[in-house]
Amino acid sequence: MTVRCPLTDCGAENVADAETCVRCGSPLREFARLTAYPDQLFNQGLAAAQAGELAVARELFAAVVHWCPLDAEARNALALTNFQLGDHQAAHTHWAAVLDRCPGDAMAVEGMSRMLEL
Ligand SMILES: [Zn+2]
Repeated sequence: MTVRCPLTDCGAENVADAETCVRCGSPLREFARLTAYPDQLFNQGLAAAQAGELAVARELFAAVVHWCPLDAEARNALALTNFQLGDHQAAHTHWAAVLDRCPGDAMAVEGMSRMLEL
């Protein structure tokens, strides 16, 4: 497995555990840590939601959405947590944002219809 240098004008292939890029010296290790970070936050959010700590889960999902605004899974999770916390306006905003990019997204469609039933 190799890691591609994130700099577009470099793009050198590096060994997976390289600290820095062989060609340009970019800090690859740091970059890998940053790209894995939203996943970590998302998993922590899921764990918090499962433990019933919805307010904590919402903060974590909000952080993921901040990092990855196009991540529909994270935005769906954020919308659902807002919904469960009774913040229907925020839930609506995030589900609408998901549907904007992915019309027909099953979770967002379902969420929106649940709000309409209230
Ligand atoms: Zn490089």
